[in-house]
Amino acid sequence: MVKKVTAEWVVKQLDKEYGELAWRSHGEPLDALMQTILSQATSDVNSGRAFDSLRRAFPGGWDEVRLAEVRDIADAIRCGGLADAKAPRLRAVLQEIHERVGSTSLEFLKTTPTEEAKAFLNSFHGVGPKTTACVLMFSLGRPVLPVDTHVFRVSHRLGLIDEKLGEAKAHNALQSQLKDPDVYSYHVHLIRHGRRVCVAQQPRCEECVLGSKCAYRQAGGRLSKKTLPQNLPGTLHGLKEKVGEGSNKV
Ligand code: SF4
Repeated sequence: MVKKVTAEWVVKQLDKEYGELAWRSHGEPLDALMQTILSQATSDVNSGRAFDSLRRAFPGGWDEVRLAEVRDIADAIRCGGLADAKAPRLRAVLQEIHERVGSTSLEFLKTTPTEEAKAFLNSFHGVGPKTTACVLMFSLGRPVLPVDTHVFRVSHRLGLIDEKLGEAKAHNALQSQLKDPDVYSYHVHLIRHGRRVCVAQQPRCEECVLGSKCAYRQAGGRLSKKTLPQNLPGTLHGLKEKVGEGSNKV
């Protein structure tokens, strides 16, 4: 209960600090899935370039990508990095969607109940809770929280996540503390806050609007660094960029 109250308070404080946010769709669900895969282990700029380049190289859409040679897909996304690893992955996911759905589209998710949609996306090889949450939240506006490195770090410091939780359990734990309408704002605000103020190495607690309820600050900055994950995948670069800021089974 205390954590729920704190989570709600965090959203209100960051609404005041960064402005209230209104969700808007960040594209079709299949676009979001492809963009999320491209965003892994690369910068915002590079993943955005790779996505745009891929769309330009295959103007016929995702079915054209599904039927393309892997080397041609890799050439199209070369500017985003890890092209030779991501190209076969993109094509395999598109092929699996086509086989299971009957078309190269995830349109049907728009009317699929959230838990069912979550289970469907999670069942794909290489698609984990973070990618699933990104697609459902950014594209479809579902209250499913993606937990990236910033969200995890700031939430942990605030005392909202048990220090022993891994990434997958953190998704569920944080989700249960948030009201559905707060999920989008919590995610976007915490990424912004994690980049500007609650940075990884030296958080700027003296200028932070969350200090009065922050476990890290109240402990004098002594929360164990060992409990913070060292290798969480990064942010969902391309989609974050569109909201003014800024996830292998991810
Ligand atoms: S008070 Fe410090 S540790 Fe706590 S959220 Fe703010 S910057 Fe992060």
